[in-house]
Amino acid sequence: MSINTRRTFEGPNRTGEQQLNFLPRIARRDLDVVRAEEITPRYRRIVLTGDVLAEGYPLVRFACNDHIKVYFPDPQTEKIVAYREIGNDEWELDSVDGEPIRRDYTPRAFNLEARELTIDFVIHEHGVAGLWARRAKPGDEIVVMGPRANWLLPENYTHYWAVGDETALPAISRLIEEAPEGAHITAVVEIADAAEEQQIIPAPGVSVDLHWVHRDTDPVGRGHGSALETAIRGVEVPADTSDLYVFAAGEAGAMKPIRRYLRRELDLPKRQLAVDGYWKRGVADHDHHTNTFDDEH
Ligand SMILES: Cc1cc2nc3c(=O)[nH]c(=O)nc-3n(C[C@H](O)[C@H](O)[C@H](O)COP(=O)(O)OP(=O)(O)OC[C@H]3O[C@@H](n4cnc5c(N)ncnc54)[C@H](O)[C@@H]3O)c2cc1C
Repeated sequence: MSINTRRTFEGPNRTGEQQLNFLPRIARRDLDVVRAEEITPRYRRIVLTGDVLAEGYPLVRFACNDHIKVYFPDPQTEKIVAYREIGNDEWELDSVDGEPIRRDYTPRAFNLEARELTIDFVIHEHGVAGLWARRAKPGDEIVVMGPRANWLLPENYTHYWAVGDETALPAISRLIEEAPEGAHITAVVEIADAAEEQQIIPAPGVSVDLHWVHRDTDPVGRGHGSALETAIRGVEVPADTSDLYVFAAGEAGAMKPIRRYLRRELDLPKRQLAVDGYWKRGVADHDHHTNTFDDEH
C-alpha cells in the first residue's frame, strides 16, 4: 500500500489486521515544553503544551503504531526549520535558512483539559533528538507535525505479543494500557539494565506477562542472536497461532531475525504482524518506511 493512499477506517477494528485511518489533513502544532520528568536514568517524559491543543489532538485507543514528526532546533543556530501550510495541504519550508531536523516519536498521552501532549524520549548521546531531550526544560520550543493517520491494531485476538527495545516502550506501554478486555499480552522489552524498568498498568480485564531483558554489557541493537531474540524464542507459543497478533519494534537490524522467526518458524501470516525498525545503528534520521524484510522482496 502506498503511504499516500487515503484510507479511512473507524474502529473498533475487528478485521484481524492493522487498519489505517488517514486524517483529513496533517496538522502542524507549535508547542512549548511545560515540564520534563525523569522516568528512569535514561528515559525522560517531556510534556508539551500550546493553545493549538485546545482544538484537540487525534489520540485514539489501541493505535500504538501512531507516530508524529518532531522538529528540533538546529544545535548550531538554535532555530527550528519546519513546514507551514501555504494552501490546501500544500506545504513549504518556513525558512530557506537551514534544513529541517525531524525524528519520529510516539504520542504517549494527550490531555485535552490541560492541553498537554506527552512524548517519552530515550536519552542518548548520539543524536540531536536524544541530546535535546536530555536538556529540555520548561519554555523550550518544538514543532510537532502529524500524525498523518491513526494505525488501528486489530482487537479480535486473544493473544498479543509486544516486543521491542526501549524506543518501542512508549508504544508497548500504550498497547498494554489500551488493549481490549480479555486480551492476554506477553511483552518482552530489551532495556539497558534493571534501573530502566518502568511501571505499566494494563487496561481492565487484560492480563500481562512482562519480561524485561537486560542488555547489560551488550551494545544496543546487536542484531542476530540478540538478548531480545533469545527471549522471544523462549516465550510459550499459543496452541492456536491464528489467535496471536504480534507488535514488534526497535533497532532495524535486530528486528530482522525476530520477524524471520515469526514468519518462517511460527508461520504467522503478515496480517498477524506489525514489525518495524524504529532506528538503525550508525544511521542518523533512519526512515522507517525504508525497512525491508526477507519476505517482502
Ligand atoms: C514510528 C516510530 C516511533 C518512535 N517512537 C519513539 C519514542 O516514542 N521514543 C523514543 O525515544 N524513540 C522513538 N523512536 C525512535 C527515534 O525516532 C530514533 O531513536 C531517532 O533516531 C532518534 O533521533 P536522534 O536525533 O536522537 O538520533 P539520530 O540522529 O537519528 O541518530 C544518530 C545516531 O544515534 C543512534 N541512535 C538513534 N536512536 C538511538 C537510541 N535510541 N539509542 C542509541 N543510539 C541511537 C543512531 O543509530 C545514529 O548512529 C521512534 C521511531 C519510529 C520510527
